[in-house]
Amino acid sequence: MRQVRRRHVARAGFLLTWICLGGLMILGSARPAAAQRPFGLPFMSPPGPSTWFVTQFYGNTVWAYRNREDLYSAGQGLHFGVDFAAPCGTPVVAIGEGVVVAVDGPYGSAPHNVVIEHPNGYRSLYGHLGQRSSLAAGQRVQRGDPVGVVGDPASPACDRAPHLHLEIRDRTMRLAFNPVSLIDADWRGITLGLGTDGTQFALAYEEPHRWRTPWDQPEVRFGGPALNAYPDAWPPR
Ligand SMILES: [Zn+2]
Repeated sequence: MRQVRRRHVARAGFLLTWICLGGLMILGSARPAAAQRPFGLPFMSPPGPSTWFVTQFYGNTVWAYRNREDLYSAGQGLHFGVDFAAPCGTPVVAIGEGVVVAVDGPYGSAPHNVVIEHPNGYRSLYGHLGQRSSLAAGQRVQRGDPVGVVGDPASPACDRAPHLHLEIRDRTMRLAFNPVSLIDADWRGITLGLGTDGTQFALAYEEPHRWRTPWDQPEVRFGGPALNAYPDAWPPR
């Protein structure tokens, strides 16, 4: 009996050691704690043709594949955020509570951007804002609080491609994650069914089942090697 109990204690100790080690590994990694779609959408208004809708998913979209060597080369050739088309001036809101860590920081997405750090370890980046945000670094925000307004990176007159570019990264800002997996939304529905280069994915001939849907896209490590360096993809040009 005593021997059995001792064996149980030993087994429990072994298990505890592994749990602690696992915890340490999670703490030590840059990867934020996994949670089921903890964030909301960056707009308060409902989607629609005159309000906002998704024009480009995160990942190996047809558009990203075709621009893999220039526009998206820093992000391993993939589109490392989600694009929401919206008229200039459309209010953008925080996707979750957190603290502002950068206003117009060195993260691209001109002309203006904001970065918010969330308690679960993720950071959200709101890019191509039309004006400098009235938020300041260190300021606390709640989910749904105003972050800024949509701008047009291609034209100050807002007549080219006004949109919000939204990213979710880790604390180091070196990894980008697929917002589709982290934001609670009807993702197919909010494209309004408009099939474009940004809502379709480029398929490699060698591995046509890989990275086919908005949900199935790889993490991006900024500065890492291109993930889609193959010369041809489906659909062909
Ligand atoms: Zn974008």
